[in-house]
Amino acid sequence: MLVLKNIDVFYGKVHAVKKVSLHVDQGEIVALIGGNGAGKTTLLSTISGLIRAGRGQIVFEGREINRQKPDKIVKSGISQVPERRLVFKPLSVEDNLLLGSYHRYSLGRSASIGRDVEEIFAMFPVLGERRNQPAGTLSGGEQQMLSIGRALMAKPRLLLLDEPGMGLAPAISQMIFRHVSKLRDELGATVLLVEQNARSALKISDRGYVLETGRVIVQGTSKELMQNNDVQRAYLGRDAGESGR
Ligand code: ATP
Repeated sequence: MLVLKNIDVFYGKVHAVKKVSLHVDQGEIVALIGGNGAGKTTLLSTISGLIRAGRGQIVFEGREINRQKPDKIVKSGISQVPERRLVFKPLSVEDNLLLGSYHRYSLGRSASIGRDVEEIFAMFPVLGERRNQPAGTLSGGEQQMLSIGRALMAKPRLLLLDEPGMGLAPAISQMIFRHVSKLRDELGATVLLVEQNARSALKISDRGYVLETGRVIVQGTSKELMQNNDVQRAYLGRDAGESGR
């Protein structure tokens, strides 16, 4: 579905992403893990067109998208859930969801928007109970659900999720991860998931890539990565000797 070939991204002289190649197949959750400053957000924003790749190729469903503008990329079927949630705080929960579908008006596909809002409320009942409340009054976990719901309103075929567990209490963060795996299992969604919390990300994903200072250093199935000694030492907080226990 998505193929990145030899992507380089620069911020002036800072070479943030170095020759990254990866792919995401339909129906998969693919995790991109790595520490602070590894280049994870930069890579997601490059896919969604917010940042231009210096070199390389991004192909989505057979079409090259690396020269396209972000609104065109959303229309082609990719939605990003930004880091730190970024909901429109003074607007109601429902209006936040409606904003996620704005481009469907220009595509003439607006007929089912009301039904889709109800589907989001069925998925996240707590949002339905608060539909008229300003989004800024929601808790962090609820804002994360709203941010995911807003991205789903664009009817994406590929969802880019940037650190959905960030800043949330562990139990709430786990609930968000369960929702993400439900998106795949029940809706057939395809997700590229960026996460510092490697354990949570690898638990729900099918495959993963480890990014370190802009480079992919290991890749494999999530099971393989969980058993990899280097990944265990650096990202799972476990001594290599504990492997398999
Ligand atoms: P985190 O998990 O901490 O959010 P990350 O893996 O998402 O980190 P990025 O935010 O993509 O990392 O940053 C990658 C590198 O690019 C870092 O060295 C960062 O300092 C640099 N960088 C990011 N944004 C900019 C910018 N706007 N201008 C200059 N350098 C930047």
